Amino acid sequence: MRDHLILWLAVIALLAGSVSGCTSRVSEFYTADDFRTVPKIDVHFHYETLDGRYMRLADSLNFRLVSPNVDAGRSISEQLHITTELKKRYPEKFAFFGTFGVEHYGSEDFAGRIISRIDSCMAAGASGIKIWKNIGMTLKDSNGNYIMADDPAFAPVFSYMEEKNIRLLAHLGEPRNCWLPLEEMTLDNDRSYFRNNPQYHMYLHPEAPSYEDQIRARDNLLERYPGIRFTGAHLGSQEWSIDEVAKNLDRFPAYDVEFSARIGHLQYQAITEPGKVRDFLIKYQDRIMYGTDVGVSGRNTNYAATAESLVKRWYDHFIWLATDAEVIVADLNGTPVKGLQLPKEVIDKIYFTNAEKFFR
Ligand SMILES: [Zn+2]
Repeated sequence: MRDHLILWLAVIALLAGSVSGCTSRVSEFYTADDFRTVPKIDVHFHYETLDGRYMRLADSLNFRLVSPNVDAGRSISEQLHITTELKKRYPEKFAFFGTFGVEHYGSEDFAGRIISRIDSCMAAGASGIKIWKNIGMTLKDSNGNYIMADDPAFAPVFSYMEEKNIRLLAHLGEPRNCWLPLEEMTLDNDRSYFRNNPQYHMYLHPEAPSYEDQIRARDNLLERYPGIRFTGAHLGSQEWSIDEVAKNLDRFPAYDVEFSARIGHLQYQAITEPGKVRDFLIKYQDRIMYGTDVGVSGRNTNYAATAESLVKRWYDHFIWLATDAEVIVADLNGTPVKGLQLPKEVIDKIYFTNAEKFFR
């Protein structure tokens, strides 16, 4: 009798499930029309101008922006000034990461100076601190040895960040393509970047640390400072293999990633294994964030053209992630890649819930 009851309950549950499945299937996925209205955060958007038009453009598409300062290009004090000002103007819609210079490596009180820089960034409203690939790829000591992120000179800095609960956004290393000859690179944008920036094309610099050295140094930080809330920029430079990204997410609970400037690598893997890429994003839906790595500065004189290409990029990414339509991927030589059609709740997490923490 009891068995019968259980059986009937199971049948009823199954029927109820299939009925609600039918009705919920209607709204399980977003469509292209939802692009403007779904709340979104671009967690890697280099906003290097006080021109508010990009902010208004983003807002019109329900995007909030996170701008990481970076130890490259425009001086870091100028970047801090601009982003501090933007944070004051748009506290709900804009956030930024501060950064520090490393040019004083080897000087007395190297770490102390960095720590006071971190304090001033945080006092200015930063969501955390970004470190960049110059650590590991160009920074050297007086004997010409490359200095990696796990160098003892940085230990007090990371201990401080861990103790003060300061977030770290780390762009360490480069795509693995950087260690390959141009013709073996998987993506056109990597090929053109390294063609134009041979100083960072590590295939040409065999004396420099290897790809594996870069990953090891970063993993050492994750191991030594498990309390740091650590975001791996650009899929933690493991963009070539979602299996590798997954291993690190499994290994380090306080670690998450954003895929700015590396969505093409996800698309590349999705050409042959769409289900695997989709499953990866679903499985790690709480640990992955959307970003582009677009940069806007006062030096961009043509606002209309910049805005148009920005909107197209944001739109194409949304279509690929949220719908099952094909998108033409310029970085893959115009290859069409079918959309992943991630469920709404996964899109919401990747696009904004996971990045809400950057808005304090
Ligand atoms: Zn960047």
